[in-house]
Amino acid sequence: MLLRLPTSVTEAQECMADGAVPVGGATLVWATWQRDGFPDQAVSLRNLPEATVVGPKTLGGAVVLHQVDDRVPQVLRRAAGSVGTGAVRRTATVGGNLVGSSLRCLLPAALVLDAHATVLGSDGVYATDLYEVVAKRHLLLALHWRTPVASGYHKQPAEAGGPPPLVVATAVHADAEGRHHLRVAVRDGYEVLSGSTACDDGTDQALGALERTDVGALPPQAREAVHRQVARVLADPAGR
Ligand SMILES: Cc1cc2nc3c(=O)[nH]c(=O)nc-3n(C[C@H](O)[C@H](O)[C@H](O)COP(=O)(O)OP(=O)(O)OC[C@H]3O[C@@H](n4cnc5c(N)ncnc54)[C@H](O)[C@@H]3O)c2cc1C
Repeated sequence: MLLRLPTSVTEAQECMADGAVPVGGATLVWATWQRDGFPDQAVSLRNLPEATVVGPKTLGGAVVLHQVDDRVPQVLRRAAGSVGTGAVRRTATVGGNLVGSSLRCLLPAALVLDAHATVLGSDGVYATDLYEVVAKRHLLLALHWRTPVASGYHKQPAEAGGPPPLVVATAVHADAEGRHHLRVAVRDGYEVLSGSTACDDGTDQALGALERTDVGALPPQAREAVHRQVARVLADPAGR
């Protein structure tokens, strides 16, 4: 297998046109390749500046999970820190998690940040939403978002190899007029759903409005966890 390491978007595009298979840290694909055979070519974005950025509003698709630090909002940092073991986090990438894994612990965090993705298609780089990235398995260059006022991430403790633990991600955003909006995303089983509401009238009002979104259809235990996380993030407007 030829591993290609493009240093520009044009080179990455050439790799894709040549049929190179995207690879991050290979924590998922290695076993499959050993079993089914290796592709002729793979392409890693780890030398591509657009895919390796870590900043307050951007996270590259080739960034390794353990490099996701306090330059990004708390919700994303804690999501990355919750994935698997230290060994997995030292190897697995943002793109591999969002596009390649079935658990996608980063997805609820990215959703509450109202993030969009830049992806590389045959016509070049373009912006798209996260659901499309996941559904169409686009080549993820980076995530981009607006800095939230506050955010939080909760993952229920779970046995390794058991069912996916509940994840609740929350973020509060301010609009141009200074009004605040709460976004909540929940992973329940393998499903991820989200809801949003204005939140300047207090926690009870916000929770009532959330009940009228997809969040209201969650089982009681999950809704209780959402209530706790919403109360926490609305009580901490100075958090990130
Ligand atoms: C022991 C263990 C525990 C785990 N626990 C969790 C957990 O708690 N939560 C969780 O969410 N996940 C968990 N995972 C899954 C983990 O998230 C993935 O292994 C990891 O994120 C895959 O990243 P990678 O860079 O190694 O991907 P790879 O194995 O390199 O690639 C996986 C897939 O993603 C594609 N891909 C890679 N990069 C990109 C890109 N930039 N754009 C588009 N497609 C791309 C590849 O083509 C491939 O199809 C666990 C995995 C292990 C092994």
